[in-house]
Amino acid sequence: MQVFRYSQARSLDGAVRSGAVPSASFIAGGTTLVDLMKLNVLTPRSLVDINGLPLDRVEPLPTGGLRIGAMVRNSDLANHDLVRTRYAVLSEALLSGASPQLRNMATTGGNLLQKTRCYYYRDTNYACNKRQPGSGCAALDGFNRIHAVLGGSDHCVATHPSDMAVAMMALEATVHTQGPKGPREIALDEFYLVPGTTPERENVLEPGELITHVTIPTVAAGTRSHYLKLRDRAQYEFALASSAVVVSMSGNRIQRVRVAFGGVGTKPWRSREAERALEGQDATPENFRRAADAAMAAAKPLKYNGFKIELAKRALIRTLEETTQPA
Ligand code: SF4
Repeated sequence: MQVFRYSQARSLDGAVRSGAVPSASFIAGGTTLVDLMKLNVLTPRSLVDINGLPLDRVEPLPTGGLRIGAMVRNSDLANHDLVRTRYAVLSEALLSGASPQLRNMATTGGNLLQKTRCYYYRDTNYACNKRQPGSGCAALDGFNRIHAVLGGSDHCVATHPSDMAVAMMALEATVHTQGPKGPREIALDEFYLVPGTTPERENVLEPGELITHVTIPTVAAGTRSHYLKLRDRAQYEFALASSAVVVSMSGNRIQRVRVAFGGVGTKPWRSREAERALEGQDATPENFRRAADAAMAAAKPLKYNGFKIELAKRALIRTLEETTQPA
């Protein structure tokens, strides 16, 4: 592990100032960063500890939505009354991730910024454009069973590992930040970048820009939601394919639906194709299959991950069955 400077931020402005220096990194729960520093995958020269900042509250918004501080721990968020009762998809996604110990440490902001589990990214013996731009991508011709079928490029095909972000994508969350240029709001759908030719750039954050909180809009009465995660083992495992659905019904007719996938895209993957195929339609197996086909129409399998396409389709169909059947 490389030697680094450590400081504790005492204010938001101080954190932003310290975080804006070259090669600085914020540290909160540390559940990703410390591992990757030990592996020499990430080598910040300065760590700015933000655990002392007052960003650890979950609060209802006057508009009926929810404001979630960036330092709210994943366990606290998953078990919060408002989240469990109004935003089941978010609670389920959080509880499907990692282990209880990790969820007790991991934060909302950190979860959004999780690094990929691509084996080649985490092993400095291999070429990886994300870790070292221009070095190549060992996954393209390597063992790419866990990699993306949507959003990839000739430079990177790594999946985004977060479950929470997939649920937030279906809930149309907004990320709020504070940076050297002031505060800004970013729709979660516009927060993540596909790899293109610059896979080292995973999101739109600028140096020193800190996530302060996330807001989630209110959902109409009667809205149902669910997160389904399919993986190699039942616990402590990342998704091979997952599906988040937030839906409101009128009888058997789908009035409004939001769909997102995990485990298959280079970012938490919202599927407007599936939403278009479902809205205004009856909740039938045929329409579910049509939506699933539409969602995966652009998928491009690699040598070892073609199975993910059908897996993701079945995840969506199962999630739709679960959320549209009479309670
Ligand atoms: Fe690196 Fe992306 Fe290739 Fe994995 S898929 S080796 S993260 S460039």
